[in-house]
Amino acid sequence: MATWDRGEKEFTCPQCGAVYECTYEDLPSRERGKQECEDCGATVHSWNGSRDYEDWKLIRHGRGAVKSFGSLLTAQSSVKKG
Ligand SMILES: [Zn+2]
Repeated sequence: MATWDRGEKEFTCPQCGAVYECTYEDLPSRERGKQECEDCGATVHSWNGSRDYEDWKLIRHGRGAVKSFGSLLTAQSSVKKG
């Protein structure tokens, strides 16, 4: 019975600094994909090989996120006022 290496890994967005955690798994097949940052849309990590990455979780927002949260709150409060 073969066992494939599996574990958790952290990636940081190169653009805004958001931190992501994911599960990686070494597979006998070739896997290809990429994860885009939820905050700024930059590619956090792309892969094409025998290691697959899944279960991406945003664990810390990047610098750009504070701004968008602020505008979201402003939008909500102006809706309440209106
Ligand atoms: Zn980002």
